[in-house]
Amino acid sequence: MMRIRSAVLDAVTDTRPYSASSPLSVRELEISSPGPGRVLVRIEAAGLCHSDLSVVNGDRVRPLPMALGHEAAGVVVEVGAGVDDVPVGAHVVLVYVPSCGECAYCAAGQPALCEKGAASNGAGELLGGGRAIQGTEGQLVHHHLGVSAFSEFSVVDRSSVVVVGDDVPFAVAALLGCAMATGYGAVARTAGVRRGQSVAVFGLGGVGLSAVIAAQAVGAGPIIAVDPVAQKQDLARELGATHAVSPGEATELLSALLGGGVEWAFEAVGSTAVLAQAFAATCRGGTTVAMGLPHPSAQLTIPALPIVAEARTVKGSYMGSTRPQIDIPAMVELWRGGRLPVEKLITADLPLDRINDALESLADGSAVRQIIRPQRAA
Ligand SMILES: [Zn+2]
Ligand SMILES: [Zn+2]
Repeated sequence: MMRIRSAVLDAVTDTRPYSASSPLSVRELEISSPGPGRVLVRIEAAGLCHSDLSVVNGDRVRPLPMALGHEAAGVVVEVGAGVDDVPVGAHVVLVYVPSCGECAYCAAGQPALCEKGAASNGAGELLGGGRAIQGTEGQLVHHHLGVSAFSEFSVVDRSSVVVVGDDVPFAVAALLGCAMATGYGAVARTAGVRRGQSVAVFGLGGVGLSAVIAAQAVGAGPIIAVDPVAQKQDLARELGATHAVSPGEATELLSALLGGGVEWAFEAVGSTAVLAQAFAATCRGGTTVAMGLPHPSAQLTIPALPIVAEARTVKGSYMGSTRPQIDIPAMVELWRGGRLPVEKLITADLPLDRINDALESLADGSAVRQIIRPQRAA
């Protein structure tokens, strides 16, 4: 057993500002040595993602208390029995869906849909069951998506790490695990967007902007970025969007530009109203790809006729349909070639003790990706 500092959510709250209500308690936990098939990682950088906020405000129901955080990178400091392909000292990206390698989804090359991974994530446990963390008096604390990244150290399943080169900065590596895996994966894997195809991205947070970067990387165009926040529109243009507009301007732009709609519309907000707008923005034969997580009670209302009469598709994308062990190294290669400028998404770099301030900046829409540094003194 070792003592670590970790950010724990004890109860759901939507009392704002979060910088005052402090939903996350940074406190000591105990962490055990990695058991068979698991590794101990020193977390060097963790991104704050909208999915973390969704757990805090109750949009995404998770067992509590929970040590939050699911987008991170770090260094392997110890490996459990049977782990022979991840050396101590390796730099790793953490992956928020562990995969068993044996279920029908894993066998079909869809580890993001792993049945056992989904079950352990839902239970707040590690793959294979049980937990490696607890309170200092033995209290129950759940893992978040098998990662719990807002912690000095984390014990995770072998399948929750992907080894990357030491040349990749930890903050960049962290973003490859969620924002870029989701955004790049949706464009390159779920959709398979080709050169010259038209793309619209609705919602310009970390995931949406990652989709813009990916659309540029695969040679799509025009690339239309949609968000109410002017600074995010500016950033989208810098990252390769040919046009960036507010939601109210999108329809007019699309008809002026394309006479109809785009071949691919990506939704990164998790709003059914925005998803319906994305669907309306597609052309005949076009596809809407849903990346944002809506509230579990949300129902989508879209006109049914165009699905048949115009052969339009609505498609879900979880973790960008990525195969982490293959696609994250591929993303690293693209980053090395300057084609995935992930670092441009980072708007703040903060010690763990500032996590509630970071939560507020995410909730008020002013931040894109904020990096939390569990190893840095406040
Ligand atoms: Zn995320
Ligand atoms: Zn599986």
